[in-house]
Amino acid sequence: MSDSVRVRFAPSPTGPLHIGGVRTALYNYLFARKMGGKFLLRIEDTDQARFVPGAENYILESLAWLGISPDEGVGIGGPHEPYRQSERKDLYKAYADQLLADGKAYYAFDTSEELDAMRTSFESQGSAFQYNSLTRVKLKNSIALAPAEVDQLIASGTPYVIRLKVPAKGEVRFQDSIRDWVHVHTSSIDDKVLMKSDGMPTYHLANVVDDHIMEITHVIRGEEWLPSAPLHILLYQAFGWKAPQFAHLPLLLKPEGNGKLSKRDADLGGFPVFPMEWTDPATGAVSKGFKQEGYLKEATLNFLAFLGWNPGTEQEMFSLTELAEAFSLERINKAGAKFDVKKAQWFNEQYMKQQDTAALAANYLPNLPADQGVAFVQLFLDRITFPQELAVKVTEFQVRPAIYDEAVLASKWNADALSGLQLIAQALPTVESWEPEGIKHAIHEVLEANGIKMGKVMQILRVALSGNGAGPDLMISMQLWGKAEVIERLATALAKFPAL
Ligand code: GLU
Repeated sequence: MSDSVRVRFAPSPTGPLHIGGVRTALYNYLFARKMGGKFLLRIEDTDQARFVPGAENYILESLAWLGISPDEGVGIGGPHEPYRQSERKDLYKAYADQLLADGKAYYAFDTSEELDAMRTSFESQGSAFQYNSLTRVKLKNSIALAPAEVDQLIASGTPYVIRLKVPAKGEVRFQDSIRDWVHVHTSSIDDKVLMKSDGMPTYHLANVVDDHIMEITHVIRGEEWLPSAPLHILLYQAFGWKAPQFAHLPLLLKPEGNGKLSKRDADLGGFPVFPMEWTDPATGAVSKGFKQEGYLKEATLNFLAFLGWNPGTEQEMFSLTELAEAFSLERINKAGAKFDVKKAQWFNEQYMKQQDTAALAANYLPNLPADQGVAFVQLFLDRITFPQELAVKVTEFQVRPAIYDEAVLASKWNADALSGLQLIAQALPTVESWEPEGIKHAIHEVLEANGIKMGKVMQILRVALSGNGAGPDLMISMQLWGKAEVIERLATALAKFPAL
């Protein structure tokens, strides 16, 4: 039944959420919406050594900014509370005990020094040490030791971990929605630790137990978890539970496509790989965020949706609701997705044009009177990528030109252009209603009366007024400069332009 679909986003608060993590959350959200199911947010914080203050809050704020709203989970609640794994600690122990009782897991007392020594000795013989069916019989655990000895070690408080007893022979197979069939021989899987000596579960145990208890039907997560999936399947088998359907999302690749996208690529390329700005609590180092760089949430979502998925049509612009309607796991690519920041910028430009001009003016040009602010927004909206460029554009616009485009002067500055500008300079003071139509009309009239084509003069007029050979609508620009300023700028240009 489609209404029973339950998916989760299960980040670990070990630092700022990477933009790839946001994509994972988005795909889970879209799949839940598409299937009429539920989207959960579970915080996997059992690795206390890697816990970073502020990271959980950052995850919640990033999802809230983009409108990727969970139906259940941390910050929302729901039938499976708590959704923070550190608060579910006692529960995992009972499940580990169940595996111990069933002979599917065992105690291991090996110290890290002993395991290090093993590794070194294996390496010296040119092989890699694995805690598995071949080695476990000779190590310090409840398989190799006599029961009395095990009891004595536990009674005396010797630290131990609980490991999964991976079957010596067999094949693990599962059909991933994106990767199709995955086959792994159990000999390549080691006896992973399920409970650590500090009494905390490992990621593997807590993840599988919670996905089962929370009735997760589809596990949609990054490809970096694909190597863990066979182990997770073994855990489901050990518990006698039905495994969820897995879907491992393609990696995000560098803009050039060679290798995994990293923070270093972002620093070098000057683009963000985090949804929001992040200040490292330990070093104070600040990383750029999509939000603060001026990416609109609509553009960020649309861009992320297309990183590894496509609708199979030509349509590129999708709202969150439209994405949910169009989304399917079948249309996710197997190959890695190139992180093309130019595409993100393109989306932003498209969504900028759909923004409310009054709101943009109020937010980004707060010092201007509202009507002027809106006029500037309209003038520049299709010439900018990010909203904060508006203020820069307005400042540039208001500065008188110091230099004039030499290429345009070289090709267009001639006798006709000179007389054209002189005629315009005479006509402008007589314009009564200083608005685009009135200005245009006056210029047209005076040029026509003197047999000069507008096309011969307009670019030179632009250079005279702005210094540049190209720019936004000239008549609106003239209106915004104001009559006195335009007359002044034209007179200055006529004095400064090269003698003919
Ligand atoms: N806690 C894991 C992470 O940080 C979750 C992986 C999974 O979805 O199973 O990505």
